[in-house]
Amino acid sequence: MKNGECSKCGSKEVFRGAEHGPSGCNANEFIRVSYMTKAELIHYVCGACGYTESYIEDPKRLNKIRSQWPQLQ
Ligand SMILES: [Zn+2]
Repeated sequence: MKNGECSKCGSKEVFRGAEHGPSGCNANEFIRVSYMTKAELIHYVCGACGYTESYIEDPKRLNKIRSQWPQLQ
């Protein structure tokens, strides 16, 4: 998805929704990482089939999750 190609249907019509993007604040969602910290979810949506993926793209937030959340074995 991040390379602009839908990972389900192969369409090149992929859109990125982030906090300050043209889609506005409605695209804004968060995961609570810890009591004081939340991480923004960046959405990638295929305009052809509607498939959606969401990512945490802030490396600081990712590192916080890596250091604080239990890892599956
Ligand atoms: Zn698609």
